[in-house]
Amino acid sequence: MTIDPGAPAAIDRDALRRRYREERDKRLRPDGNDQYLEVAGRFAHYADDPYTPVAPRARVTDHVTFAFVGGGFAGLATAARLAEAGIADVRIVEKGGDFGGTWYWNRYPGAQCDTASLIYLPLLEETGYRPSEKYAHAPEILAHCQRIGRHYGLYERALFHTRVTELVWQEAEARWLVRTDRGDAFTAQFVGLGTGPLHVPKLPGIPGIETFGGHAFHTSRWDYSYTGGDAAGAPMDRLADRRVALIGTGATAVQCVPRLAGACKALTVFQRTPSSVDVRNNAPIDPAWFASIATPGWQRRWLENFTANQAGGNAEVDLVQDGWTDLARRIREQIRKLPPEARTVPNMLAAYEDADFAKMEEIRARVDAVVADRATAARLKAWYRQLCKRPCFHDAYLQAFNHPAVHLVDTDGKGVERITPAGVVVAGREYAVDCIIYASGFEVGTPYRRRAGFETVGRGGLALSAHWAEGMRTLHGIHAHGFPNAFVVQPTQGANLISNIPHNLPDAAATIAQVVRHARATGCREVEATAEAEAAWVELLLKSPGRMTQSPDCTPGYYNNEGRPPDAAARLAVGYPAGPSAYFRYIEEWRQAGEYRGLAYR
Ligand code: NDP
Repeated sequence: MTIDPGAPAAIDRDALRRRYREERDKRLRPDGNDQYLEVAGRFAHYADDPYTPVAPRARVTDHVTFAFVGGGFAGLATAARLAEAGIADVRIVEKGGDFGGTWYWNRYPGAQCDTASLIYLPLLEETGYRPSEKYAHAPEILAHCQRIGRHYGLYERALFHTRVTELVWQEAEARWLVRTDRGDAFTAQFVGLGTGPLHVPKLPGIPGIETFGGHAFHTSRWDYSYTGGDAAGAPMDRLADRRVALIGTGATAVQCVPRLAGACKALTVFQRTPSSVDVRNNAPIDPAWFASIATPGWQRRWLENFTANQAGGNAEVDLVQDGWTDLARRIREQIRKLPPEARTVPNMLAAYEDADFAKMEEIRARVDAVVADRATAARLKAWYRQLCKRPCFHDAYLQAFNHPAVHLVDTDGKGVERITPAGVVVAGREYAVDCIIYASGFEVGTPYRRRAGFETVGRGGLALSAHWAEGMRTLHGIHAHGFPNAFVVQPTQGANLISNIPHNLPDAAATIAQVVRHARATGCREVEATAEAEAAWVELLLKSPGRMTQSPDCTPGYYNNEGRPPDAAARLAVGYPAGPSAYFRYIEEWRQAGEYRGLAYR
């Protein structure tokens, strides 16, 4: 029996639960992740780089201290922390034409970060940079990545437009052999893997997709030569006489629809599941205000404060103050209404649900307040809990549907039926278009090796894909037994903070830099997680409550394995059971102890 902590009176919880279930059930499909098409074979051109021509260069066959796969935030942060630890001989290998990772590829109009710049952009304090807006736009974020590259001297050794094809541990020499698609074969004493969670574009497996006769591209490879304009915001002047279809209504679509709305002759947005779109309230950052907060250690304080506010910590002050911290604050307030003796797990979960219901009702009411056409407004309402999908925040997306040239086609959860040479078919009706833009997201639940694009072969020929065949196994989300001198830089099995992914990265980088420095200081050639330490960490992780977002009760999407019950691998895609703030404290203590518990140095 649960206690009512005082939900807003007008909310009919049973009706909402029923509606959420009905909407989810409509979207469940037996093919799960297999519904998507891999961008390979005849679709391979969807992954081509439209931004930078590939320059010829000589093969590289030398030796470096540290090779890092991926030039996004993970690689930049790791190289930065290594440089600070006196290890400058770091080579980043990157498939794009520059640093930036996600922000190299995602140049679609309107792209911006959706957690606040002051916590999203890494190494602001170290590089002395003040972002221009509370939520910076993509060109500024890409420029910041380049700034980090210059600041730490990373361009000199970097290999761009280069895909690693294999990493192989060379037992006798205690070093890694790195092979690439440009014919390189160089060695590195240490390697880092920062290939990112969302970097392989995927296409919807819509029948007939290959037959379309017009122009088509994926949002992460925006074709400005077709649309006109540029990433900096110049108007897309070549669309004035074009009929454009946008397929998908996730976080990317929410940001690019407002820019497309005014530019196309006609924009038809094809929706399978509406996003929840809360208020953004972006604003310039005032230099005088910034100077007042940017005292030594400021970025770390802001990061820790956001994480404590947003992910179950216990902060009294909310520095960032946005939609992310708002939901968490409401949940805490709802729980505080419970008398202390009633704070049982079921009661607290009920309080959480109530706070969520109230928040989502507000977000749905916002649709009615903004969108003039009643039928369109009804279709734009999201019927699921806010964290079931990436929550969106925008102050021009819903408004775009009031534009006379913008048309919403809701597929009632079924998705686009067919693509023909002339256009897009839903419910038997063909919408003729000149161009289809796929805002269809990125591979998430597919095997790590497929997403990374290469195999990592460790001690005794052990492949990382075999070691992780039943799910990821690490110590601290960083080290894997059998893979000496190799480190993964990503959130899972560590803090697993998914609202502000970058918080995880410089922290992991600090651990790695210290581990490597210790190896060098003690003259050790190898460092590796012990089998016992890895097993103990995995056992601890299995005590994790998991994320609400992974629940099969949620509407299907990449957060919850497309609605399929979690398999063994999904059960390991979790973080430190006590939560992100506790993980960051734990690992800080681990570093400060200087004992390197769980690692074997040889
Ligand atoms: P998503 O995977 O979130 O969205 C893909 C969209 O395509 C969904 O709306 C999906 O519908 C739709 N879709 C898929 N198949 C079909 C089909 N057959 N017919 C019709 N529609 C279909 O990708 P995004 O690129 O939008 O976002 C991916 C992630 O990238 C975000 O969740 C976020 O983490 C990150 N991101 C971050 C941003 C930031 O500001 N920092 C900005 C943009 C993205 P359905 O929902 O039903 O599956």
